[in-house]
Amino acid sequence: MKHSTSNFTLGILGGGQLGKMLLQVTSRLSIKTNILDPSDESPCKNMCSNFIVGNLMDFESVYNFGKECDLITFEIEHINVDALEKLENEGIKVHPSSSTLRIIQDKSRQKEFFVENKIPTSKFTYYSSLEGLNYAELKYPCVWKKTKFGYDGYGVKILNSKEDLNDLPDTQFIIEEMVPFKKELATTIARNESGDIEIFPVVEMMFNETSNQVEFVICPAQISSEINEKAKKIALKVSESFKQVGLMAVEMFLTKDDEILVNEVAPRPHNSAHYSIEGCVNSQFDQHINSILNLPLGCSKSNVYAIMANLVGDNGYHGEVLYDGVEDAMKIDNVKVHIYGKKQTKPNRKMGHITVLDTNLKEGLKKAQTVKKLIQIKSK
Ligand code: ADP
Repeated sequence: MKHSTSNFTLGILGGGQLGKMLLQVTSRLSIKTNILDPSDESPCKNMCSNFIVGNLMDFESVYNFGKECDLITFEIEHINVDALEKLENEGIKVHPSSSTLRIIQDKSRQKEFFVENKIPTSKFTYYSSLEGLNYAELKYPCVWKKTKFGYDGYGVKILNSKEDLNDLPDTQFIIEEMVPFKKELATTIARNESGDIEIFPVVEMMFNETSNQVEFVICPAQISSEINEKAKKIALKVSESFKQVGLMAVEMFLTKDDEILVNEVAPRPHNSAHYSIEGCVNSQFDQHINSILNLPLGCSKSNVYAIMANLVGDNGYHGEVLYDGVEDAMKIDNVKVHIYGKKQTKPNRKMGHITVLDTNLKEGLKKAQTVKKLIQIKSK
């Protein structure tokens, strides 16, 4: 394989846990990999060929980093996209493309893209500032979303009454119709330059009621085969519309009327497919690397129930991280623990995850809940 034997260098923008799990694949295939990240304490430090500290939003640092690479990808969406576009124009491959990233970086553009490409999504209106909002027109409940730089629900607020508008920051935003959903679903698609496509199983995301973040991911989603097919068809349409190369996670709502609406997409490895490391022969990280290097895509089917639970910083703890109960969790059969190696914890920060495999979903979910309670993430 030319990527392993030549001087080929893969550049990854972002050195968090997703980068770290990509490096586990590039290490297996012996691919030289450079990483750019703003933190000198990034989980990827010491794992890649070259670790460079730099601001991902700064044109010069992204451009200069990219110039030294043969192919660039990213594990985070907040990147200077103009630099990526210039690198592409100068003949350096960027997968997924800068144009995809430009659309994804702005929730309003992303929703417009769905509408233009006839991808079902909830109704929305764009506002450039709070001044443009006609308060009397809003139908409650509805959803306020900051168009840029939101993540993990930071930048999303359910509005139940006029009072909920009081402490909103003055920024560009969209107001979305509230979707009465039964479940939140996701799938991931890998597509290489030759056009080969591999779709992962449709999974179901369960949210923590207090933090409103994903707590468990269940593979496969407990839905009928018709809904499963419908969700896959829509996700494939999303991937085709973007002419995607690389990985794309598609988050969807299953409504009370069994409609599928696309909520948002991520052109990178995604929390909803972490289960695939143990649950599928080829994980999302394998398939991301395979697809951006235009290698054959392996099979990503799953023959077992897989439950992923996020391990986040416990409430009340800020500072240097201390993990409690990991050994107890490891005593349980069919449990795999992932620790991301972030030095600092804070409430709800993603610090690791566990995956449970089981032939019985109920048992597996029970085990995942037990393990999650055993592991506590505190500070020193
Ligand atoms: P982020 O990009 O920060 O993850 P999302 O757009 O995925 O933000 O929204 C976060 C969560 O808020 C979703 O997973 C869902 O639970 C809820 N949500 C978002 N949009 C809607 C909507 N239109 N109707 C109902 N719930 C929504």
